[in-house]
Amino acid sequence: MAYKALYRTYRPNTFDEVAGQEHIVRTLKNAVIQHKIAHAYLFCGPRGTGKTSIAKIFAKAINCTDKNQIPCMECENCLSITDGTHPDIIEIDAASNNGIDEVRNLIEKVKYAPIKGKYKVYIIDEVHMMSPGAFNALLKTIEEPPAHVIFILATTEPHKILPTIISRCQRYDFTKVPSKEMIKRIHLILDKEQIQCEDEVVRIITQLSDGGMRDALSILDQCIAYAQNDIKVEHINEIYGILTIKEKLDLLSLVIQKDAKQCMKMIQSIVEKGMDIKRLTTDMIDLLKESIIYEYTKDICLLHSLHKEEAEILNKEADLKKRFDMIDIFMDTYDKYRTAGDLSGYFEICLLKMMDDHKNIVSEQAPMINKIVQNVSRETLELSSDISSEEPYQNDIETSIQEPIQEKKYSIEPLKDEFVVQLLVGANKPEKQLDQENFKNILPYTMELDWAKEANLLKNGKIMASSETYCVMIFESQVLVNEINEKDKKNEFSKFSKELLKKQKKIFAVTSEQSKHITDLFRKKMSDGSLPEAIRFQMKEETIEKIKEPTQEEIILDLFGKENIVITED
Ligand SMILES: [Zn+2]
Repeated sequence: MAYKALYRTYRPNTFDEVAGQEHIVRTLKNAVIQHKIAHAYLFCGPRGTGKTSIAKIFAKAINCTDKNQIPCMECENCLSITDGTHPDIIEIDAASNNGIDEVRNLIEKVKYAPIKGKYKVYIIDEVHMMSPGAFNALLKTIEEPPAHVIFILATTEPHKILPTIISRCQRYDFTKVPSKEMIKRIHLILDKEQIQCEDEVVRIITQLSDGGMRDALSILDQCIAYAQNDIKVEHINEIYGILTIKEKLDLLSLVIQKDAKQCMKMIQSIVEKGMDIKRLTTDMIDLLKESIIYEYTKDICLLHSLHKEEAEILNKEADLKKRFDMIDIFMDTYDKYRTAGDLSGYFEICLLKMMDDHKNIVSEQAPMINKIVQNVSRETLELSSDISSEEPYQNDIETSIQEPIQEKKYSIEPLKDEFVVQLLVGANKPEKQLDQENFKNILPYTMELDWAKEANLLKNGKIMASSETYCVMIFESQVLVNEINEKDKKNEFSKFSKELLKKQKKIFAVTSEQSKHITDLFRKKMSDGSLPEAIRFQMKEETIEKIKEPTQEEIILDLFGKENIVITED
């Protein structure tokens, strides 16, 4: 018998079998129950997150002849859609059939009534790969589709699709499958296939697949092919050239304990095994990040790679400041890989740098910076402000080691509710809509080296309010909110906002929790007529200046720090 790939065998067949994507499943289910079917759907999202699977389930649900269970998986329509033989379900892979002829051909047939089911469903995968001619032909059909036709367009790159098509579709954004869901599904499959597999392997698979269920199952396939019925950690590590979490934590421990000798030894063996240094670097960042998130939240649900105990050990080994510094150094090193021939050399230097607590780099540069500080270029302003805020803090470290001093520097104050209310007063709806539209294009930037840092920080945010010069965004984690506000203080989003939002804007971040308080406060102030005046920012190339609002001066100085603001008289 020919071997069938796991992801084919275990494709979800009903809405209930889908891993993740709850909001999409719920909405589509309701649409079927209430007979509110649109004529065109756009499914966007990363690869392997269930777009075409859900498209097929939806096609079944609307053609199923059972009254109660949809899809029933027993009627003729359900069965033939599942095995791919239904004449009314037309699947097109635009990546291989992107010619205008195919689309014309398709359109020719659109007008004929369905043969067996109630609806003809065209599922067009990777629709962004279609040629412009084909796209235009498709557009005409989508504009005036016959009542019995439904289009489901799937894409990993929605920004490449004509806005005229997007506006005619009901859009659904698929998210990466959460690791918990993925782990559940992998265990279920292992049980059914009667395969022994260490838990650690499952954890590694979810990391490697980065939220893509199909990738996860392909990796599992490879492991099975390699190790048969008993998969162990060393197997997957051999196949993929990676370290176990424990090995990575050991390496971090060596750095923290400043054991340079053992550390170099370990790198040596990593290099000899041909492991992927780039991946190792991002993995290290992820582990540190998770430990920090855990330290702030104590919420084990937010742990994906680490176990609670591992996070606790790491948190005990290195204080917050140390871990933030390590992340910075890893990130800088990752940037350098772009131009580096010898990655392992950079990686070694990176770890050695972390063993040095005294931040020599900053103090050595100080005299030089003092000389050029009059020069008002953005970079020098940033550096000088860094130094002035850093120095008193460093003295603290030397004098009072036992104090939880890292709190002082890293517990960045959240934005004051009153201040955000002022931002809301100055915001407007058309600008918010523009920003929301542009913001949808953020994902590709996460892969571009020039923008990856900024895009990754912002990508999971939701726009709460916008004006011509700023944007208030909601994020789930306080850590992220703090980091974004901190970066914005240094104007680090000005270039990226110009690229993404087409206007240079400041980015203010709040947690969803805080956004609720703020909305309540805003409503209250509005109803009793006590809304404050709007805050205005004046945008200049590369710098953003605050225009003075006398009563708010204190708040603003507090918010941005004196170094970063030029106050001008109105
Ligand atoms: Zn059925």
